[in-house]
Amino acid sequence: MIEKAVMTVLLLLTIGAFAFRAKQLVGYIGLGAEEDRKPRDWKRKLKDQLVVVLGQRKLLQWTVPGVLHLFIFWGFMVLFTTIIEAFGAVYQTGFHIPLIGKWGPLGALQDLFVVAVLIGIIGGFIIRRGQQPGRYKGSHTKEAEYILYAIFGIMITILFTRGAEISLGYFPYDPAWTPASNLASKAFSSLGHEAREAWDTVFLWWHSLIILAFLVYITYSKHLHIITSGANVLFVSERPKGALKPMHIDIENMGEDDTFGAGKLTDLTWKQMLDGMTCTECGRCQSQCPAWNTGKPLNPKLLIMDIRDHMFDYGPALLAAKQEGPEAYAAALETLPPLNPEIIEDEVIWDCTTCGACVQACPVDIEHIDHIIDMRRNLVMTESRFPREMQSALNNMETTGNPWGQPPQARLEWTQGTSKQEALEIPHISEAPDAEVLFWVGCAGAFDDRNKKVVYDFAKLMQLANVKFAILGGEESCNGDPARRMGAEYIYQMLAEQNIETLNNYKVKKIVTICPHCFNTMFNEYPQFGGYFEVMHHTEYLAELMRDGRLKPEGEINRKVTYHDPCYNARHNDVWKGAREVIEGIPGTEYGELKRHGHSTFCCGAGGGRMWMEERMGKKVNIERTDEALASASDTVAVGCPFCNIMLSDGITERGADDQMQVKDVATLLLQSIEFHPESSVAAGNGNGSETHGRNGNGSNGSED
Ligand code: SF4
Ligand code: SF4
Repeated sequence: MIEKAVMTVLLLLTIGAFAFRAKQLVGYIGLGAEEDRKPRDWKRKLKDQLVVVLGQRKLLQWTVPGVLHLFIFWGFMVLFTTIIEAFGAVYQTGFHIPLIGKWGPLGALQDLFVVAVLIGIIGGFIIRRGQQPGRYKGSHTKEAEYILYAIFGIMITILFTRGAEISLGYFPYDPAWTPASNLASKAFSSLGHEAREAWDTVFLWWHSLIILAFLVYITYSKHLHIITSGANVLFVSERPKGALKPMHIDIENMGEDDTFGAGKLTDLTWKQMLDGMTCTECGRCQSQCPAWNTGKPLNPKLLIMDIRDHMFDYGPALLAAKQEGPEAYAAALETLPPLNPEIIEDEVIWDCTTCGACVQACPVDIEHIDHIIDMRRNLVMTESRFPREMQSALNNMETTGNPWGQPPQARLEWTQGTSKQEALEIPHISEAPDAEVLFWVGCAGAFDDRNKKVVYDFAKLMQLANVKFAILGGEESCNGDPARRMGAEYIYQMLAEQNIETLNNYKVKKIVTICPHCFNTMFNEYPQFGGYFEVMHHTEYLAELMRDGRLKPEGEINRKVTYHDPCYNARHNDVWKGAREVIEGIPGTEYGELKRHGHSTFCCGAGGGRMWMEERMGKKVNIERTDEALASASDTVAVGCPFCNIMLSDGITERGADDQMQVKDVATLLLQSIEFHPESSVAAGNGNGSETHGRNGNGSNGSED
């Protein structure tokens, strides 16, 4: 009787403590700014719950720790039944769950997962203590170990409680279904009935007390994710992966005192508060971050943890003030320090290339880029505080419509080719209303010398394939990606609205571009401003032309080729197949993947507006990627992005490896093969004089670079 009374009191205390903390945490989430995250695409939401939460798909990107976590996660799901049984047994000897509580397969499943969880825990210890992966640097590793001890305790005590019950004869399942518990029962075989009962009580209470303590402890620890991750995945943005959060600005009526983005804690949205609570401190994001891995201060895990700690520091006072009334709350808000640089250094915010590796890696769908861009928006538009070298790119975009600051008429220079090439006649869209596609050249293609050759080659390929296409010429403007990712949303909005108007005026439906940033912005972000276009990246378009037999590469180019996936294609848009299809379809190519490719590609360092910022700390991101390419067995690194082209070309030159490796856009390689005039410069550089061969042996003409 006394046992039942004590357990009832403990249960009520635990439920009370849990409810108190839950109310507090919900209050913290409510401190965040409003954001519409109402689930609409229920098919996707269901899939996310099944695949990301129950299937642990993102954790399984790291096979061994993923499987170990899967054991523990599913163990808790199944062993929820043993928890009910344990508490029931305190109140009634031989308790079983109604209907299913004596069903052998359930007992077997419980046994199986007790063992699986124990394997998961031991594996977790080996990884943490033995391997000590760098991704845990900065995490609360002691706290994680306490949790592992607690779970280990829960498993051992459930096993011996079940063993004792078997030995006493009131185990609800047939022991033949539960070999592990049956084995544990042998520990009691030499004891008398009373001793067995005593041990049963000890293990049962031990088990119950750990669970009660665990329930309260997790709400104050990083293991809060056990409770919040399902919700965090449920409320993940339904935007396309590559699209930033929309922010419509009334440009005409912008005032001096207007504030934008996230300057203080409560400017972050409620979902960003939930992100903070959900971080498991697993460090998967940090292990993938190009900034952190090249010695920069930005660490996406620490960024989220810093915001969370700040929320926990100021949350209680803010909640209390909120209860007092609007005046007290307004006064409490005044005490909040600015997020930058007080909580997070400015440098951290500017280091991000928006590559998306962190978001891709995060097992609980935390959206780091949203946090960073919101803080950039505040720094640029409210504080006017940003790296000084950004200024000219922003001014240029605002005044000339491109970061290079070139006049609109210069956008057509590439059509003239080099001195050895024929000029291309390409109609303006107004002269070709029946054009199949609009070729969106992009600023890098129009103004950067290396990339002028790429757009020339791609246009030549379209002509060879008899594609009816047209360009906008001087009417094209920057798509706005650099401005938006630098935090200058009003410049982005201005450029986006202008481009959408131009494209709609010419009734453009289908666009093809050589730039993943143009592709991503126009395809994923222009719909936020009412611009709906079919947009294709040129690698996909070329693959389609080859499939349709409109382009037939026949000349052997004799190159060992690898491909550097641009983040804005592969990771943000799942676009990577076309480039490989084209390269592998070119005769004389020996193709090999880089270590990090596809979804797991490594940034070139130019994204997120970093193209126009100095890299002052650590190893340069482009050099890190260049080194990876140089370590491959290839002599050519193919690219599908003008910025990657620049960054890798510069990297190879900086490494003094121009004789060892060349950077070539996929279009250039294809044109070389089709025109039977692949270059021999790699061979010449290597001194082996090897030649390339077309079927007609013609070694003249073709693209020059
Ligand atoms: S987007 Fe890329 S650079 Fe930015 S924090 Fe994430 S991993 Fe790091
Ligand atoms: S943000 Fe995500 S990936 Fe990074 S440590 Fe937290 S849970 Fe892990």
